[in-house]
Amino acid sequence: MKDFGFTISKGRSLDLDNLQQDRVDKLLELVPSYKLCIGCGGCTASCSAAGFTDFNIRRIHTSFLRARYDDLDKQLQKCMLCGKCTLVCPRGVNTRALIINMRRILAGVDSVTVNEEKGVVL
Ligand code: SF4
Ligand code: SF4
Repeated sequence: MKDFGFTISKGRSLDLDNLQQDRVDKLLELVPSYKLCIGCGGCTASCSAAGFTDFNIRRIHTSFLRARYDDLDKQLQKCMLCGKCTLVCPRGVNTRALIINMRRILAGVDSVTVNEEKGVVL
C-alpha cells in the first residue's frame, strides 16, 4: 500500500447500547476513589512496566470506562502490581486496586474480594 505519511485511526465512537454499564458500576463500587480521576496520565508516566512494554495504564482504565475491552485482559497482565502509580496519583486513586478489580471483572470472577476500603486481598 502507498505510504501517504499518515494513518487512519480506528473509529472512536461509543456504542451507547452496549456500554456494559454494570461492569463500570461494579468497578466504581469497589474502587470509589476512581471517581476522582482527572485523566492526567501521571500513573502512566510513573509506571514501572511502561518502561519495558507498551503498557499504558491510563489508556487501559479509560478504555474500560468506555467499554472497549478488546485486549484489556492481556494488557493488564503486564502490570507488576508494584503500586508506584498509586503513590504518584494526584487525586489519590487507588490504581493498584483498580487494576486488580478490572482483571477480576474481565475474568468474570463473581466474588470479588478486593476492596480499596478493606485493603487488597490477592
Ligand atoms: S494519575 Fe490518577 S488522576 Fe491521573 S490519570 Fe492516573 S488515576 Fe487518573
Ligand atoms: S502497579 Fe502496575 S500500572 Fe502501577 S506503576 Fe506498577 S506496573 Fe505500572
